[in-house]
Amino acid sequence: MNTPRVDVDGVSVSPDHYVNGHRVASSRTFEDRSPLDWTWKLAEVARGGALEADLAVAAAVAAFPAWAALSPEARGEYLDRLADLIDRDVERIAHVECLDMAMLEESLRLRVIGRGARNFRAYAELARTYESRSWSSNGTDNTVLRMPAGPTVVITPWNAPFMLSTWKCAPALAAGNTVVLKPAEWSPLSCSMLMDLVSEAGFPPGVFNLVQGLGAEVGAALVSDPRVRRISFTGSPETGRLIGEAAAKNIVPFTAELGGKGPFLVFADADLDAAAQKAAVMFDDGGQVCLAGTRLLVHSSVRDEFVALFEAATKQHVLGDSRERATTLSPLIHPEHVARVDGFVTRAREHGDTILFGGQRVDHEGLWYEPTLVEPLSNDSEIVQREVFGPVLTLQTFANESEAVELANSTQYGLSAIIYTSDEARAERLGRQLRAGTIWVNCFLIRDLSAPFGGTGISGIGREGGDYALDFYSDLKTLQIKEGTTHG
Ligand code: NAD
Repeated sequence: MNTPRVDVDGVSVSPDHYVNGHRVASSRTFEDRSPLDWTWKLAEVARGGALEADLAVAAAVAAFPAWAALSPEARGEYLDRLADLIDRDVERIAHVECLDMAMLEESLRLRVIGRGARNFRAYAELARTYESRSWSSNGTDNTVLRMPAGPTVVITPWNAPFMLSTWKCAPALAAGNTVVLKPAEWSPLSCSMLMDLVSEAGFPPGVFNLVQGLGAEVGAALVSDPRVRRISFTGSPETGRLIGEAAAKNIVPFTAELGGKGPFLVFADADLDAAAQKAAVMFDDGGQVCLAGTRLLVHSSVRDEFVALFEAATKQHVLGDSRERATTLSPLIHPEHVARVDGFVTRAREHGDTILFGGQRVDHEGLWYEPTLVEPLSNDSEIVQREVFGPVLTLQTFANESEAVELANSTQYGLSAIIYTSDEARAERLGRQLRAGTIWVNCFLIRDLSAPFGGTGISGIGREGGDYALDFYSDLKTLQIKEGTTHG
C-alpha cells in the first residue's frame, strides 16, 4: 500500500520508496523538517530497513540482465528523456529542495538542478562513444571489453542531494548497471521527485530504485548485500570508513567522495579584491560545501589589506530566507548541525584561537550561523585540521611559496585547493605540488563533466567524471584471439 502523497508548499511529493517501478511504503517513518522554519514538518518519510533494502536490491538484480543487454544508444534514450523531464520540472524540484535543505532557491533553479539534467545527457552521450579498444601483439588480437558491472548502490549526503545523486546514478545507468539510490535522511524529498520522472520516462521496472531511511539502518543493509557489485558514496570520511569495511567484506569496488578542508592561497601578486570577493563566496550555502577553500593562507605582506577586503566582502552577504532573491546566506541544515558547527568554534575559543569576526549563532530564532573567521594559535588547532562544514574559515599567513605549500598540504584531506596569483608559472608549479583532486586558479567551482573528480587522503577513493566514472561502473575484460582464427 502507498502512503498518500504529501503537499509540500503546493508541490505533490511521495514520501515512499520507489522499488521495481512502484511506490512502496514502510511501517515506520521519520520526520523531515524545513531548516527555513524548524517548526514546519514537510513530511513523514518512509523509514526503510533490511526488508526494503532486500526488496530494492532484488529488483535491481532482476532488472540487470535486460538493461545490460541494451545498446548504449537505447539506454541513452531513457537518460535523455529523463534529462528533458528534469528540465521541465526544474522550478518545482528547486522549490522543494530549497525547503528541504535551505540552499538558495535561485541558485538551485538557475544552476544546480539543471546540472542533474546535464549529468544524464552527458553520460548518455559519453556511453555512446565509450568504445572498446583493440590492438594486435604477440600473435593475438587483443580487445578490451567494457561490461556493465551489475547492481549498484548509490549513497548520497544532504547537501545538493538531487545534483550529487544524479552525478553518480547517470554514469552507473549509462554503463548498463541497475541502481538503488539512498539519499540522506535530512533532505530526502527531491530524490523522491526524481523517481516520479524515472517512472514518467518509462524506465523498465527495477532499473532505477530509491529507498529512504537512516544510514545506520537501510544504508548499512544496502552496502552489506553481497548481490551488489558497485558502491558509490558521497559523504563524510567517518561513514566512508564504515562503507569501505562493508565493501571489503564482499570485495566490491567502491568510490568515496568525502570531506574537504581545502586551502585558499592568496599570493602578494594576486588581484586581492577578486580574491577577497571569492573568499566570501565560501560562506555560500552556509559553508556546507565540501569543495570550499576554508583555510585562507595569505602572504604575510598582504595579510591586513586582504582581511579588510574580505571582511568588507563578507558584510555584503544578506542573511535571510533562502526562497528570497535578496538572500545570499542560508541557514544550516539541522539543529544538530548548528550545534556541531558551534562546538568547533567554542572549542577553538577555549583553545586560545582568535575569533576575528562572527563566532556565534545569529541572534534570532532559526538555524543561521554568523560568517566566522578564526586566526588559529597554531596549525595543529582542531579548527584548522578538521572539516567544520559550516560558515567558518581560518586565516594563516606564509612567508614564501614553500611555506605556503607546506601549510596547504598539512591536513589529512585532499579534495580541492584554490590559488589566487597573477603568476602562471607559479600556478603550474603549485598545481603539481598541492595535494588535492581539483585545483582552481583565480576561479572556483567551474567544472567540466569530462574531467576526473575526487579526492586524495581522507577526502576519498577513486575518481568519477567522464570516462573515469564509466570505467568504475564497468568490468573491464581482456579478450585475446590467436591471429589466424577463422570464422566458423
Ligand atoms: P554522512 O556521512 O553523515 O551521510 C552521508 C550518507 O551516508 C547519508 O545518506 C547517510 O544516511 C548514509 N550513511 C550513514 N551511515 C551509513 C552507514 N553505516 N552505511 C551506509 N550509509 C550510511 O554525511 P552528511 O553529513 O550527509 O554529508 C556531509 C559530508 O559529506 C561532509 O563531510 C562533506 O564534505 C561530504 N561531501 C563530500 C562531497 C564530495 O564530493 N567529496 C560532496 C558533498 C558532501
